[in-house]
Amino acid sequence: MTKKIALQGILFDEKSSYLRGPALAPPLIRKAYHSASVNYFAENGMEILPEVFDDKGDFEIKAYFDIQKITSKNLASKSPLITLGGDHSISYPLVKAHYEKYGAFDILHIDAHADLYSIFEGDIYSHACPFARILENKLAKRLVQIGIRTLSKHQAEQADKFGVEIIQMKDFDLNQLPEFTNPIYLSLDIDALDPAFAPGVSHHEPGGLSTREVLGIIQHIKVPILGADIVEYNPTRDIQDMTAMLSAKLLKEIAAKMLQK
Ligand code: MN
Ligand code: MN
Repeated sequence: MTKKIALQGILFDEKSSYLRGPALAPPLIRKAYHSASVNYFAENGMEILPEVFDDKGDFEIKAYFDIQKITSKNLASKSPLITLGGDHSISYPLVKAHYEKYGAFDILHIDAHADLYSIFEGDIYSHACPFARILENKLAKRLVQIGIRTLSKHQAEQADKFGVEIIQMKDFDLNQLPEFTNPIYLSLDIDALDPAFAPGVSHHEPGGLSTREVLGIIQHIKVPILGADIVEYNPTRDIQDMTAMLSAKLLKEIAAKMLQK
């Protein structure tokens, strides 16, 4: 099997507003992926063996925008790229690098939080801000958010201003998922899941998505996925590696969806 998906880990959590820890995540997600407790079959029947991944390794980040430079290099081949984070601030430079390669695309963003603050605690690049930066710079044609359950007045105004389509958690219906016509970038914040499924995150926000629902959202995608990130897994908060296993399962399902014709 030839390498078909590029993989990179971004060891960066300096723009977390509450707890550090997500910088430790990428090697632990890889370890869970290769755990002897599971096989490599995704639910669509595809076997996502280690050889499928052109693994570029993990990157220590000295300066925030180095993330964009590293990502551009790792995007040089034809393969779509999956990034393991890291806190959610990394998605702005990740999306910037993808924009330089592909032009504007649609974004599907799954999260408890809208991450639309124009500034947060004095930092315009905080993990609470990436989608404000993405929209201001017109990197996305369309932004659809699912799982949101912390929408502040300011972020609701930002969503109106930029035309963000928000499916709040209280209104979520697996039978009424959004349909896309353009290729998408998928940004998956692990805290979108209920803390019962994903205890290993910095911000426990009860009332979230189940694992099954997130799998349903991924499996429903019918357009090409140009790139994806899995962010905000915080190993310092995990219990029995269950969030590492969850992140690995989501990685496998996203990879399978990327490769599905
Ligand atoms: Mn987020
Ligand atoms: Mn979040």
